[in-house]
Amino acid sequence: MRRVNFKIAALVVVLSLVLLVTVEAIWAVRTYRNMRSNYELQICSILEEAAWKYATPSVSDNAHINIGNISRFNALVSEGLRTAGLSTEHRVEVLSTTDTEPIVLMAMGEIEPSSDVISVDKHLRPLILRLTVLDPHSTILGNMRRVLILQLLSVIVLIFAFVYLLHTLFRAKEVDRIRRDLTHNITHELKTPIASAYAATEALHTMPHIYNDPTARNEYLAIVLGELRRLNGMVEEILRSSTEEFTTAELRIEECDIRSIVEAARLSLDLKYSSCRVTWEIDIDEGCSVAADSFHLQGAISAILDNAIKYSPDNPKVSLRATTNRGYTYIAIKDNGIGIARSQQRAVFDRFYRITEGDSYSTSGYGLGLYYAHSIVKRHNGDITVDSTLGQGSCFTIKLPRYGR
Ligand code: ADP
Repeated sequence: MRRVNFKIAALVVVLSLVLLVTVEAIWAVRTYRNMRSNYELQICSILEEAAWKYATPSVSDNAHINIGNISRFNALVSEGLRTAGLSTEHRVEVLSTTDTEPIVLMAMGEIEPSSDVISVDKHLRPLILRLTVLDPHSTILGNMRRVLILQLLSVIVLIFAFVYLLHTLFRAKEVDRIRRDLTHNITHELKTPIASAYAATEALHTMPHIYNDPTARNEYLAIVLGELRRLNGMVEEILRSSTEEFTTAELRIEECDIRSIVEAARLSLDLKYSSCRVTWEIDIDEGCSVAADSFHLQGAISAILDNAIKYSPDNPKVSLRATTNRGYTYIAIKDNGIGIARSQQRAVFDRFYRITEGDSYSTSGYGLGLYYAHSIVKRHNGDITVDSTLGQGSCFTIKLPRYGR
């Protein structure tokens, strides 16, 4: 995916997410408001009904009237609230309106009436019956609970889906980068032997004094042959690794002696790196053997040892320590090389992954060695981990089940 396309796609995803959350929030606020005005209408009609049923004040003498028991008014209100499914904490009061400020003549919470029946001055009429709901929010939110939970769940699911989409987009971008790097690496790697073979063949073709001199001719033909062999080796390595032959091929599990596998790997690496002096420190516990396919295990260990030398530009010092503990064999391979940043340590086991910063990139490779080692170790029910500090070296540890455990 092109860089601009990716940015636009990521922006669209984030904007959609923000839009969705905003719409949901607006909807929730509107629903709350609607429910609140419905609630207030219901409360008014309950109060009205209760007031009608509440007895009309009776005259006690010429100057006074009796007003009914407030407990009865409270019971009527409570009954009305219960029937409407709005049982809530409330308070009822009887007030007079003759003064500027209404006076409470009788009040009752749910529990204690301040007075049951009172006789009041006739002039205090008309009277007001007041119902106060103490916590309307909890009742309304309680009624909205199911809808809110469903809404919250759907928002969570959608956020998850959007995050997953973003993750997939990032991954696609990373794969694209890896693909471009691989193409670049392969082209770069293949170009050198092709150029050498081409130059040697051209010299033989155009320079008769070389062609006619048997020693020089043999020398040039040896160069061509050597470069073609190298080319063939590279192509085979890419094909073998990219077709995942090793992740599906049948393993021939047998008892493998770690010492002989390490020695064989070291011998071939000494030949490969004959031009640089590698310091080896090998320490293998007695009887260190694992149940493995020896060919692939050697390949995996070689890949890690090869990297240990390849990524240690100055006087490579490679130490290998093999120990056994609780049914497992541990092979720790340590180097004094350039190290791997913590953020890259997981990714180095991915197929075709290469670190593009620092000194790594100037070293040739296809990003397949650790992928191969990781796949092989996993197929043997083992594990491989890396511990590294940038600029100070790396330590790769392979854990494999012991033979006969
Ligand atoms: P490559 O062919 O590129 O070496 P690998 O799969 O073997 O592929 O390694 C992946 C990347 O991990 C390398 O490109 C390199 O950046 C990093 N790496 C692997 N081993 C080491 C090491 N011992 N020290 C530093 N970097 C390493």
